Amino acid sequence: MASVLDLIGETPLIEVTQFDRGPCRLFLKLESANPSGSIKDRPARAMVAAAEADGRLGPAGTIVEATAGNTGLGLALVAGRKGYRIVLVVPDKMAREKILHCKAMGAEVILTRSDVGRGHPDYYQDLAETIAARTHGAFFINQFANPANPQAHQDTTGPEIFRQMQGRVDAVVLGVGSGGTLTGIGRFMAKNSPATRMILADPSGSVLAPFVETGQVPKAGSWAVEGIGEDFIPPNADLNLVHKAYAIPDPESFATARDLLRREGVLAGSSTGTLLAAALRYCREQDKPQRVVTLVCDSGAKYLSKVFNPVYAAQEGWDYERQGRVRDVVFARFSEGEEVLVHPNDTLRTTFLRMRAGDVSQVPVVDGDRIVGLVDESDMLGAALEGSERAFDLPVKEVMVTRLETISADAPIRELVPLFRRDLVAIVMDGGRFLGIATRLDLINYFRIAKKR
Ligand code: PMP
Repeated sequence: MASVLDLIGETPLIEVTQFDRGPCRLFLKLESANPSGSIKDRPARAMVAAAEADGRLGPAGTIVEATAGNTGLGLALVAGRKGYRIVLVVPDKMAREKILHCKAMGAEVILTRSDVGRGHPDYYQDLAETIAARTHGAFFINQFANPANPQAHQDTTGPEIFRQMQGRVDAVVLGVGSGGTLTGIGRFMAKNSPATRMILADPSGSVLAPFVETGQVPKAGSWAVEGIGEDFIPPNADLNLVHKAYAIPDPESFATARDLLRREGVLAGSSTGTLLAAALRYCREQDKPQRVVTLVCDSGAKYLSKVFNPVYAAQEGWDYERQGRVRDVVFARFSEGEEVLVHPNDTLRTTFLRMRAGDVSQVPVVDGDRIVGLVDESDMLGAALEGSERAFDLPVKEVMVTRLETISADAPIRELVPLFRRDLVAIVMDGGRFLGIATRLDLINYFRIAKKR
């Protein structure tokens, strides 16, 4: 009888047909089909097996790793099936969803600072190493330097690609997080298909593509794509295998992932957007037909609130020109259906559920396309404290504030400041129509993106 661990690998390969591929054929290997949903199940299983084989991990041992990403999920899956304790050290900027996912898989999660670098005792990788050293029977996985990581891809992913492509692969387009995929597949191809080119897809801001192109490691920037791109060269990344590198800006990666879902029906994460964008650029640059493969590294289900959320793109400042006007900070727009709102006859219960689901602390009350009131946490709390048993059945129109202070979308942004000083939320009107609301957090975010470039 197969266990879930036997379902790792042997993932399907499909052909991309709805994008301009120049003279090439382009194929996608769906690593999202692995049981924990990503390419990292393969090295997770292999790194645990290697540690068992050489006695570094014994029965009832503890697995320690520094990650809240796919490696953590893959390791938690393997540890759970095999009866090991697992401790994951996670930087505190990680998305809550990822931390909840790791915990739900049975991992113990230790949060640490995100604002310190390599060499600091609280840096997540240094801390993981210390915890492993202090814990009896613990094994520090260290995917960045563990040779079983690339070996897993050399033994499985590489041969599968070669077989599924009937031995004819001109190029493989890959990203580097730990370097396991690149080095493993690259070594397999070097032995079995030496003409196959390894192409690096890297987020702009990472040091890897510049290193391939210039031989120098520049100062790292920042990027929003998750799972690939680095601020150092991981020991497991053999960049000598790389023939050509592309640096892909975040907006292009995100847009490509969205296009992949719309056009091909494949729900993939942000790193897949980077890989596919680079693969498409490579294909279009060719003057002879080639057979090109890239990967769907993980599922887009983890990124619905980022890659597939237009408000996120607006908050990153990707979609529009900033002009120093109030409209620049209205990220969730009523006219685009993005604003969280209630109708005057909605109950306080409905209002509360919308506020919680939308993660907001105030909502506009809208009748047709007119804003008629605003309700916030203190209005709700007041009603709950004073009201009868049935307070949550009251229509919101009985609790909302109706004396509204509005501001024009075209007003200079600094005119928001006096409103915020008076503890008000700005109700932004665009030529008499309700555009959306602006909060302090929106203004803070505006300064963050303005100062980023
Ligand atoms: N994509 C995603 C989503 C990942 O989580 C990772 C692993 N960090 C990769 C790509 C890159 O894989 P590797 O670690 O083998 O370089």
